[in-house]
Amino acid sequence: MLLVFLYFLVLYFVLLTNVSRSPLFAPTNSTVLGTGNRSAMVFMATLPWIIALATKNNLISTFTGIPYERLQIYHRACSRISLSLILMHAVIKLKASTSMAKDWRRWGIGAFIFAGALFVTSHRNGMQWCYQVFVHLHAPLVAGLFVSTYLHTVNTPLAHVVQPLLLASATLWAIDMLQRWVQLIYLNALYRPRAADVSTSRMTILSPGMLRVEMTKPGLQKWLPGSHVYLFSPPFLGVSPFWQSHPFTIASVSEERSAHQITSGSTGGEKRKYGHKSRKYANGSMELQSLRQSEVNEEQLPAESPKHNRVFSTDTEADTSTEVSGQSKLVFLIKKRKGFTKKLYEAAQMGKSSRLLVYGPLSPPVSYLSSYETLVFFAGGSGVSWTLPLLLDACRNQSKNYRMTRQIFWIWSVTNSEHMHWIESELTQALSTDIAQVTVDIRIHITQETAHSRDAPRAWEEVVPSSSKSNSRQRAPWIIQGRPDVYGLMSSAVESAGGRIWIGVSGPESLQLTVRSAVRDWIDPSAVWRGEAKGDLTLHCESFGW
Ligand SMILES: Cc1cc2nc3c(=O)[nH]c(=O)nc-3n(C[C@H](O)[C@H](O)[C@H](O)COP(=O)(O)OP(=O)(O)OC[C@H]3O[C@@H](n4cnc5c(N)ncnc54)[C@H](O)[C@@H]3O)c2cc1C
Repeated sequence: MLLVFLYFLVLYFVLLTNVSRSPLFAPTNSTVLGTGNRSAMVFMATLPWIIALATKNNLISTFTGIPYERLQIYHRACSRISLSLILMHAVIKLKASTSMAKDWRRWGIGAFIFAGALFVTSHRNGMQWCYQVFVHLHAPLVAGLFVSTYLHTVNTPLAHVVQPLLLASATLWAIDMLQRWVQLIYLNALYRPRAADVSTSRMTILSPGMLRVEMTKPGLQKWLPGSHVYLFSPPFLGVSPFWQSHPFTIASVSEERSAHQITSGSTGGEKRKYGHKSRKYANGSMELQSLRQSEVNEEQLPAESPKHNRVFSTDTEADTSTEVSGQSKLVFLIKKRKGFTKKLYEAAQMGKSSRLLVYGPLSPPVSYLSSYETLVFFAGGSGVSWTLPLLLDACRNQSKNYRMTRQIFWIWSVTNSEHMHWIESELTQALSTDIAQVTVDIRIHITQETAHSRDAPRAWEEVVPSSSKSNSRQRAPWIIQGRPDVYGLMSSAVESAGGRIWIGVSGPESLQLTVRSAVRDWIDPSAVWRGEAKGDLTLHCESFGW
């Protein structure tokens, strides 16, 4: 906010002071030859900057490490400040004369209309109402603004200032587009004659409204946990007659990043029994209501829980590995909404396969997790696609990348116990890892039906490494009835922490707000001042939106 305010001050300072000796920008003149022209020139000067803040491949991200999506807010704020400059320019010019006789005047009005349309279509409310209008109109409207601005000034004394700035902006945009296309072709191996084979994805309906999409891409073998990619649906090959591109988080981890072999779930064998029936949190505010899976009387269980069969699948076999013939598999958990996701879902229902291209990986925002002693993850519903790969990565690379980490709390809320099967194979992998130096506490909250530990995939209990064979601190997940007590969990995490704490949350807004508020209660700058790392909390909210 402060940065945006400073930016505003600088622009208006330049606007209201003498920036040029040219009579075209006379400082004392508050009309056409003064502020009227200066506001247009200040707007032009901001244009390359606005474009740089909008592009996915940009120098600002390259040099600062700030992911492109974190720059969107600055792109939006700077664009709005610039719009105020265009407005000022238009009002002053139209006040001087409303004649439409000249071409440059008509093109000026055209540029103003394009700028206005950009504002309306990219407004948050407009985007939420129909994102596709924004996606499909944004670039054409920007192109329209560029062309009309060029024609507005081409035969005027300002052309020599305007044209290089337009060229710079268009070049930044073109470089970004070129990079994207080159990456798209490379990642999806579109240069190969039988590229179509590589781009076919496998879709499985996990539960009503939730889809799992899997694919391998020869060009995309390495990504950091928490990264997202754009899924492109090419016209007439994918699920829609139009180009569609949507961001989705990769719920799997890259095989190349893994330094440790996972112990095989099915062969890892021996079951481990736990004695706890319930457990009090540090502040006593919450008590677990469920039994551990291991405490359920095996004889009471049917050989195959009927719920296990309620996974709707368009596939004949369930492939649970994340590696396919030496290639890392990209897994996405996609919640059905009203547009592209609905079309994908319907295609899966009909048993169709879709050709989806990927572009990315983009923005791993949490690569610094390893420097925290305690990691706390909260997820709700499909938000698990962000916290799951982070957990998997922490389990697999504990001794390599997470040497500082001592405890992990991983909490996931779902409405229905059936949803546990969404992540059956991935969580099985996490649980099957021998964890010697980190305590991993996994809790799954079932909010809208009776939770029972026997509904959890059997594999989770079976793969937990045997204490007799290893020093592992791995435990089977707790299955808990009701919403998580975020305050209780936070207090438990902070009380038991011996160092810095990182909290990540993804999922519904209400969960994010509760976690924010709980974290606020525990942030204690004076503790940090006293040298107690416990008060040092970092919160990361992943909202799956801009
Ligand atoms: C970084 C990031 C990671 C994401 N990861 C996941 C994930 O792992 N699983 C998941 O289910 N969803 C994820 N999403 C959300 C997902 O991108 C949208 O749900 C999807 O684009 C909706 O498509 P639709 O056409 O069906 O949407 P619509 O029904 O048309 O709209 C639903 C909502 O999605 C928003 N939206 C639509 N298209 C886009 C788009 N191209 N980019 C951003 N927002 C859009 C709209 O503003 C609207 O609020 C993620 C979003 C972001 C920004």
